[in-house]
Amino acid sequence: MELAKNSHLSKIARELKPSGIRKFFDLAAGMEGVISLGVGEPDFVTSWSVREAAILSLEQGNTSYTANAGLPELRNEISHYMQQQFGIEYSPNSEVIVTVGASQAIDIAMRAILDPGDEVIIIEPCFVSYVPMVQLAGGVPIQVQTLKENDFKILPSQLEEVITKKTKAIMLCSPNNPTGSMLNKKELEELAAIVEKHDLLVIADEIYAELVYDEEYTSLPSIPGMRERTILISGFSKGFAMTGWRLGFVCAPMEISSAMLKIHQYAIMCAPTMAQYAALEALRNGRSDVDDMVKSYRRRRNFIVQSFNEIGLTCHMPGGAFYAFPSIESTGLSSQEFAEQLLLQESVAVVPGDVFGESGNGHIRCSYATSLEQIQEAVKRMKHFIENLQSK
Ligand code: PLP
Repeated sequence: MELAKNSHLSKIARELKPSGIRKFFDLAAGMEGVISLGVGEPDFVTSWSVREAAILSLEQGNTSYTANAGLPELRNEISHYMQQQFGIEYSPNSEVIVTVGASQAIDIAMRAILDPGDEVIIIEPCFVSYVPMVQLAGGVPIQVQTLKENDFKILPSQLEEVITKKTKAIMLCSPNNPTGSMLNKKELEELAAIVEKHDLLVIADEIYAELVYDEEYTSLPSIPGMRERTILISGFSKGFAMTGWRLGFVCAPMEISSAMLKIHQYAIMCAPTMAQYAALEALRNGRSDVDDMVKSYRRRRNFIVQSFNEIGLTCHMPGGAFYAFPSIESTGLSSQEFAEQLLLQESVAVVPGDVFGESGNGHIRCSYATSLEQIQEAVKRMKHFIENLQSK
C-alpha cells in the first residue's frame, strides 16, 4: 500500500523550507563554463601533512570510536589553541566537545538550551541553518535585520527592541556569512552589556575567526563576563580548508557542555576518528598554511570589492570570512532576478542575498574562495551584464 503523501511526516519537517542556496545551485549544475562565486567553501585542498596524518591513522588501525567528546589529545590541542589564539581558557576534559562540523555544534547547542517557545534572536542576513536549527529544537527564531548603512553590524538598540521575557539566547556570527562583517572589541563589549543586563546566552559562531584581514580578532568569550554566557562554535572547515572532513568543536561552561555531550552521545556517538587525527595535525602544524591562505583571500577580497564598486555595485569592505555582499539595487532587479539572469546570460553563479533573510534583498553573495583569475573573469562578465542592462 502506498503511503498517503506527507501523511507520515512531522509537522515541523513538512513546514521546513528547503535551503535557497541549494535550489539555486540546481539551476547552475546543468550548465557548462559556469564561474561559481556561489560556494561557501575554500578552493584550497587540505594541507598535505593533514591528509597524511589521516592516512597514517588508518595505517595504524585507528578505526574505532573515540571518546564521545573526542580524542583527549585533540581536546587538549583545542583548549591550547583557544588559549593561544584567543586568550580563553577551556577545560579539555569538561568544556570542549569535538563535533561533526560546526553544523552539529549549532544543533546540540540549540537542543541543550531551548524549551518549547523559547526565543532566539537571529541577526540577519545570516547563515541559512540558524532559523531551521532553532525551529527543530522547538524554539522560536526572532529575526532582526541589520542594515547596509551600518555595514550589516547589529546595533545594541536593535537588540533591546526585540528582547522579551522569552528570549533565551542571541545567535551571533562574526565574521558573518553572508556579509563578511565583523564586530570589533568595542562592539562586542556593547553587546555583552545587553546580554548581561537581560541574563541571556550567546551562541557565538566563530567558524570564520581565522579568516580576518584588517583588525585583530576578538572572540566573544574573551570579553569579561561572556565566557560563562557563551557557547562558542568553531571548527576546521573554513580556516583549515577541511569542509569535507566534517569536523568542528564547541566550547562552553561545564554545565552547558555536559548537557550538549548527552545529546551528542545519543545522536552521534563521536565525530569521525580519522578526521580527528587530521584535525590534531592541523592544530599542531597547520599555522603557516592558514597564514598563506589568509594572504591569498585578502588579495582576492581587495580586488573583488574594489571591482564591484567600480562597476556600480556598491560594496562595503568585509572584515573577514570569504564573502563580498554587494548591493545590486542600482540595476533595478531583485536579488533573485539578478542572480538568475547573470547565470543564464553570463554563466556566473552568485547567491541571491534574500536566501539569507529578507534584509539580504537587493544584494548578492559572492564568494572569493576561488582563484584570482576566475574572479577577474567573473567581474568582467558582470560588468558586461550590467552594461547590457543599462543599454536596454
Ligand atoms: N556556520 C557558518 C556561519 C557557516 O557559514 C557554515 C558553513 O557554511 C557553518 C557554520 C557550517 O560549518 P561546518 O562545515 O563546520 O559544518
